[in-house]
Amino acid sequence: MHSGSCLCGRIRYGITGPVDEVGHCHCRICQKAHGTAFATYARVSAKNFEITYGQSSLQSFESSAGTKRTFCRECGSQLQFIRDDASHIGIAIGTFDAELEVQPSYQIWTRSKAAWWNLQEGLRSHETQPGEGANSRERYVDAVTIRAYAQADLEALRTIYMAAIRELGGEHYSAEQIQAWAGFANDRAGFSSWLDDSRILVAVGNHDTPVGFGGLQPPSRISSLFVAPGVARSGVGSRLLEHLLSLDLSAASTRYTTEASELSKPLFEKFGFRVTKIEHTTVSEVAFIRYAMHKHA
Ligand SMILES: [Zn+2]
Ligand SMILES: [Zn+2]
Repeated sequence: MHSGSCLCGRIRYGITGPVDEVGHCHCRICQKAHGTAFATYARVSAKNFEITYGQSSLQSFESSAGTKRTFCRECGSQLQFIRDDASHIGIAIGTFDAELEVQPSYQIWTRSKAAWWNLQEGLRSHETQPGEGANSRERYVDAVTIRAYAQADLEALRTIYMAAIRELGGEHYSAEQIQAWAGFANDRAGFSSWLDDSRILVAVGNHDTPVGFGGLQPPSRISSLFVAPGVARSGVGSRLLEHLLSLDLSAASTRYTTEASELSKPLFEKFGFRVTKIEHTTVSEVAFIRYAMHKHA
């Protein structure tokens, strides 16, 4: 449970659910609206948010088509960022009553960042706004097609693999773990033969550019699933997994298995995989935990 208020205290709000994610927006509209270099918003489910006091002081402004920003008409504090088509809203985190325990994980519209501001390192960064907002996400994933892997994809897949681990792994893994795990792709031949052990499907965007890949090792083990950080959470992983699970299972197999990372586990769970065992393993002598999971076919 979080609560917050505007500067003058006329408006108070409460949030009954968790904060999903916190990020900075460097777009010109946020700069103008907040009167500063960037806006920092906490993403929460709209249904968990409630104005508990002072609704009559809440003013809203449509800053672009389908997007409203609300603020206190008395003191001017920015409060909400609301998109008509989204189930989540942004709350300007400076208005929270207590210090937020969630660290920012991304920064968007870096293309228009203030020249005098140095970007924070270690965050997912987007020059504009890829994959943000329900509509643009759906449009993006609609433009993605799934096809079989070809040798010419090798370099692109190595890049996706390393970038995904380095840029998305920071939330769950130590620097040493990320280095060991991502470093596997430095061995070009080893990486190539790892791919060749499985039937690899590649998700491609415009101009046949790979944006993700996944593998099914016969008969029924999902052996890889990686998505480029720029399109993370846009549905590409789901599309890949859907296709992998539609590849033929041998008649003898009755279930799919995988060893999931902290990164891929939520997606496998969404598809009905369940953890059967937490395994301790090592990569280049660095210890890891992974989740042995299965799903009945
Ligand atoms: Zn106020
Ligand atoms: Zn913005």
